[in-house]
Amino acid sequence: MKRDPRTIMLTFGRSLKLKCPVCGRASIVQRPFNLKHRCDSCGTIFKREEGFFVGAIMANVVATEVFILIAYFALLLLTTLSDRATFIILFALAIAFPLTFYHHSWSLWLAMDHLIEGLPPGNRQH
Ligand SMILES: [Zn+2]
Repeated sequence: MKRDPRTIMLTFGRSLKLKCPVCGRASIVQRPFNLKHRCDSCGTIFKREEGFFVGAIMANVVATEVFILIAYFALLLLTTLSDRATFIILFALAIAFPLTFYHHSWSLWLAMDHLIEGLPPGNRQH
């Protein structure tokens, strides 16, 4: 397992494009909010044990919180909105962001898992 900076950059680059972190040739998304079970191209299994799902959801929650915190400070510093307007905007972002980020939280989590442990290779048919 190589973990040099280029491999890490390449893997995260693939995950940002929602591609398989292992081969980068196929998308990890089956349809919106549905992940493929395995890579169409290299057969790597994307859907793993239950704990893995929790990790992806946690990644999404943490990213949302960081994003909301940044948005909160940005609104405080850059605008003169009332507390109520600020709250409404943050509330809307708190709903929109995790939905928008859903696929990326999966792909980033897959990329992390791939870099740390190596995803289990699928049974290649060829
Ligand atoms: Zn692949």
